[in-house]
Amino acid sequence: MARVITFHYSMSDSSGNLIYSSEGKEPLAFIEGIGQILPSLEAELGSMNQGDKKHLELAPEQAFGPHDVNKVLEVPREQLPPQEISMGDQFQAGPDNPPLTVTKLTDTHVTLDGNHPLAGVDLTFELELLDVREATEEELEHGHVHGAGGHHH
Ligand code: ZN
Repeated sequence: MARVITFHYSMSDSSGNLIYSSEGKEPLAFIEGIGQILPSLEAELGSMNQGDKKHLELAPEQAFGPHDVNKVLEVPREQLPPQEISMGDQFQAGPDNPPLTVTKLTDTHVTLDGNHPLAGVDLTFELELLDVREATEEELEHGHVHGAGGHHH
């Protein structure tokens, strides 16, 4: 039987800059074994018991992958839609591709980065396991958690 694991976490980069924290928000919940969260994070949480807290450090290879220079492209300005373009804007190149983020702008060219925004980043996690329970038939059918940290429908 698959389990549902509910946890709070905060995520920082190696300089200690907070990227996300679920503190004061709804916790995250996932069904084990179907790839809903990072495999390395899932393995760690799967070995914890209710109430456990853990500090976890992940290299990019264990998290969102190394930064791949082949996914960075510089395109002439006129190849993009004729709208105002700003740093951080995202473009969708196709339904199965990750979004491209504008990382550099010149008068003539735009640099687009197709890497995950956290690719190449060393991440530090503070984990707190709130609850472990069996997944219900309905959750397994839907492929997502119901209730706290999941879908409400
Ligand atoms: Zn559902």
